[in-house]
Amino acid sequence: MSNESLQQQLSLLYQLQERDLELLSIHQKLQTIPHQIAELNAGVVQSEKDMTAKSAELAETEKAQRAKNADLEMNAVQREKYRNEQRIVTSNEAYSALERQIEFLDREDEEAEDTILVLMEESDRLKEELAELEGEVNREKEKTDTETKQLQQEIHGLETESAEKLDERKAFLPKINKPLRDEYHRWMKSRLTSKSGAARAQTGFVALGKNGICSSCRIAIQPQTLKEAQKYQKQVYCSSCKRLLYVEPATPDIPFP
Ligand SMILES: [Zn+2]
Repeated sequence: MSNESLQQQLSLLYQLQERDLELLSIHQKLQTIPHQIAELNAGVVQSEKDMTAKSAELAETEKAQRAKNADLEMNAVQREKYRNEQRIVTSNEAYSALERQIEFLDREDEEAEDTILVLMEESDRLKEELAELEGEVNREKEKTDTETKQLQQEIHGLETESAEKLDERKAFLPKINKPLRDEYHRWMKSRLTSKSGAARAQTGFVALGKNGICSSCRIAIQPQTLKEAQKYQKQVYCSSCKRLLYVEPATPDIPFP
C-alpha cells in the first residue's frame, strides 16, 4: 500500500464514518418519536377519562333530582287522598289526624324542594365544568393530531434521509480495503451492543488529528506519534483514546475535512 493510498483510505473511512454517525443519530430519533406520539395520546385518554367521570357525576345528580321530584308527586297524590277523606270523616278527631298527616307531607315537601334546589345548582355547576372539559379535550385532540402529523412527517423525512445515507455508505464501502473496513466494523459493533458504548460510538473509530489535537479525546497528539501518522505508512492510533488517527497532512494534497 502506497503512502497516498493509506491517506486516501483514511479519508474514505472517515467519510463512511460520518454517514454512519448520521445514521446512528437518525435511528436514535426514530426510536424516540413513537414514544412521543404515545405520550401525546395518553394525555387525550386521561382527559377523556376525566370527562367520563364528570358525566357520571352529572347523571347521578340528575337521577337524585328525578327521585326527589317523584317524591313530590307521590306526596301530592297522598295529600289529595287525605283531603278527600277529610270531606267524609264525621269526627273532629279523625279530621285533625288527617290534618297532621297533611302537615307532615308539607314538611317533607319543603325539605325535598330545598334538596332539589341544591341538586339543581350542583347540576348547573357540573354542566359548566363538563362543557369546559369538553372544550379542553377537543383542543387537546386537535393539538395531538397536529403534533402527531408533524412527528409522522418527521419519521418519513428521517426514513428518507436514512435510505440516502445507506446508499452513500454502500458507495463508499467497496473503495475501502477489507481489513480496515473489518476493523472499523468490529469496533463500531462492539460499542453499539451496550448503551454506554453507544454513547462512545458517537465519537467514532476514526479521530481527526487537527492542529496536533485528537478530535476524539481533545488531547494533544504526541509529536512522535503525529510525525509517524503524517507519513501515512501505517495505521497510527491515539495513545490516549486508542482511536485510529487521520491526521492533517504536513503538505495538503488530498483535501482534509
Ligand atoms: Zn484521542
